[in-house]
Amino acid sequence: MKAFHCDICGSLVFFENFRCLKCNHALGFLPDLIDLSTIDSAGNGLYRALAPEARLRLYKPCANTQQYQICNWLIPIEDLNTFCAACRLNVVIPDLTISENIELWRQLEAAKRRMIYTLLRLNISTEGAPDQSRSPLRFRFMTDAADGKSVMTGHDNGMITINLAEADPAERERRRVSLREPFRTLLGHMRHEVAHFYWGEVVENTRYLEPFRNLFGDERQGYVTSLQNYYRQGAPSDWRTRHVSAYAASHPWEDWAETSAHYFHISDTVETAASFGVALRPKHPDAQAMTADPKSIPDLNTPFPKILEQWLPLTFALNELNRGMGLPDLYPFALSSVAIEKLSFVHEVLRHPGRN
Ligand SMILES: [Zn+2]
Ligand SMILES: [Zn+2]
Ligand SMILES: [Zn+2]
Repeated sequence: MKAFHCDICGSLVFFENFRCLKCNHALGFLPDLIDLSTIDSAGNGLYRALAPEARLRLYKPCANTQQYQICNWLIPIEDLNTFCAACRLNVVIPDLTISENIELWRQLEAAKRRMIYTLLRLNISTEGAPDQSRSPLRFRFMTDAADGKSVMTGHDNGMITINLAEADPAERERRRVSLREPFRTLLGHMRHEVAHFYWGEVVENTRYLEPFRNLFGDERQGYVTSLQNYYRQGAPSDWRTRHVSAYAASHPWEDWAETSAHYFHISDTVETAASFGVALRPKHPDAQAMTADPKSIPDLNTPFPKILEQWLPLTFALNELNRGMGLPDLYPFALSSVAIEKLSFVHEVLRHPGRN
């Protein structure tokens, strides 16, 4: 994600901020312009956006801003919705009479907004095409039932269900260890599940379907049986030669979702590094392969291997920085040539969608 700046004082401000930490001016995200803007009250509960490209347009706050301070996105005044472009996708939210649910939900919404920001940037609609049997993207944030029936995190025909327990760091870590995953985050969940949704938008019934099958495998093989086999037997021992993760070996759809999630981990962080001007120039003369300057990537239409050239040295440095803090590696994965080919395919499809 790119860095944002206050339109009043020029300070760095962040995607989740409600106010500039330097000049205290209010901030709001403008989904129509995909920008975080400084805002002024315009009376009657409306705001005037001060970002130059907003040309002083008027916006309404999202209903989740007023009630729970959970969302900093705004709604263009002519839009009749009371919820912003991200919050209106919710079908089920947690029971907010249970006070601890509010903070857990806040974490989920923050991760979700980052993913919706990515869809806006890619110009992928959240509304599907019901007349062509393509369901819209919707979210259910649910808790296990009192009778013990558990809520499975997953995707079904555009509907993404996330168990609220995933927002509790202790519970998420317990699940990560029991599933032997190197990495488990809310943003990772969002990227994985939303990738299932947009497979139907950008691959299914498009010119990319056959190339997808050649690279990822035939998705018509039994999905439920494949997952049962995976949970019974685990991934084949040589999964690292073909997949970004063990779970990706369970079925071509899961491979797509896992690969897409990695694609966004990579493209988002490279963009952030470029935006901050992060560059690597190791002191040792033999470490030239470890140099990086993500700013040198002209734009995200650059071929993926060029983006990866900048990313790999960054991961070595960032992993080592994390170790210096006693933290887990930022990116605890090694990418095989087949996995890189799949990442390049995701890049190509998302940059030049089969539909649109
Ligand atoms: Zn400011
Ligand atoms: Zn909202
Ligand atoms: Zn999945």
